[in-house]
Amino acid sequence: MENPWKIAQQQFDRSAEILGLEDWLRLKLREPRRVIIVSVPVKMDDGTLKVFTGYRSQHNTARGPAKGGIRYHQDVTLDEVKALSMWMTWKCAVLNLPYGGGKGGVRCNPKTMSTGEIERLTRRYTSEIFDIIGPEKDIPAPDVNTDGQVMAWIMDTYSVLSGKNVPGVVTGKPLDIGGSEGRNAATGRGVYFTLLNYFRNKKQSIGARSVIIQGFGNAGRYAAMLLESAGFKVVGVSDSKGAVYNQNGIDVKDLIRVKAETTSVVNYKEAEKISGEEILYKDADVLIPAALESAITYANADRIRAKIICEAANGPVSNEADKILQERGIIVLPDILANAGGVVVSYFEWLQNMQSYYWTEQQVNEKLELMMKTAFDNVITLAEEKNITLRESALMIAIKRVAEASKIKGLYP
Ligand code: GLU
Repeated sequence: MENPWKIAQQQFDRSAEILGLEDWLRLKLREPRRVIIVSVPVKMDDGTLKVFTGYRSQHNTARGPAKGGIRYHQDVTLDEVKALSMWMTWKCAVLNLPYGGGKGGVRCNPKTMSTGEIERLTRRYTSEIFDIIGPEKDIPAPDVNTDGQVMAWIMDTYSVLSGKNVPGVVTGKPLDIGGSEGRNAATGRGVYFTLLNYFRNKKQSIGARSVIIQGFGNAGRYAAMLLESAGFKVVGVSDSKGAVYNQNGIDVKDLIRVKAETTSVVNYKEAEKISGEEILYKDADVLIPAALESAITYANADRIRAKIICEAANGPVSNEADKILQERGIIVLPDILANAGGVVVSYFEWLQNMQSYYWTEQQVNEKLELMMKTAFDNVITLAEEKNITLRESALMIAIKRVAEASKIKGLYP
């Protein structure tokens, strides 16, 4: 797999060059402000002890506290977390949120762990990063394999150690403890709004466009539901165990039921069973990579048949693949725009926590729609004006905003 940190730095270097950024800003912004590596000892259910490695990277805080998810995955590395934190900085800036970028992760396979083991891991990891997180410092959220329950444990651990209730230390919490309406669906909803914004901008009807979704976690699942209800035809879906494809369409509700009952979409009967890789190369109007980084690289970009790629995952398309797709006329709706719905509603959740005043789901969704539309319009306008890709445009807007903030603040000491 290509190194995501190299990819992220290359993207930055190229955008900095086009923007003509001053040298000191280039040197500063191409590195994370701070990374922390911690050992997370966990007593396992069988009485043995395991020591996991945890990370938190805060890429930049020029525009506000660091913001970004925490993932639990067996392949988590420091470089991955650094890349994801840099992408969070750009994502928050494209959406004009008052945040910098952060990301964390623990190298573990939660699918082989009990609930108790995951809880102990979460609480110990939280206590190890306690000093550097907080509502005004760095605000974690769900990411790959983490959810509202994990956020609740983080909030509780942080609150116990602080001697007071601190709901604003994490977002993506359950509603009962200060979560926001609409947060669970927000990443998928943002992906859905991005596609609608694109078709509207191109004055194209939605029709019965076909969609393939690679990855059926939180983002993929909600995107599938919303797109189906808007008239799109979901023809293929994959998860970590494989994929199913039916060119006549898959019943998303039924698929969700099958996944809940059997742990995988591959047990859905009304479709052809294929591999998780093959699904990427099937016919569809839209391909939504919603799993991990580098799903599409120089090795397979020429095999993609979809006309539009909408990135629900972070970093699913490598830089070489980007070039190949561009040459082939395939449109990429970039991650830092397309999957920003999650962090936008995280921002709303944090605001509601600060005010102890809560909004309705309709209010949340309307505000999300407006913010996604404003960002989309900015990105597509600059792309057309400069004849650059949507990713280049989004990066330029974001980097310029972060650079301006850094410049006005100046360098300490
Ligand atoms: N993990 C999500 C992302 O990559 C959400 C981050 C957040 O809500 O802070 O955008």
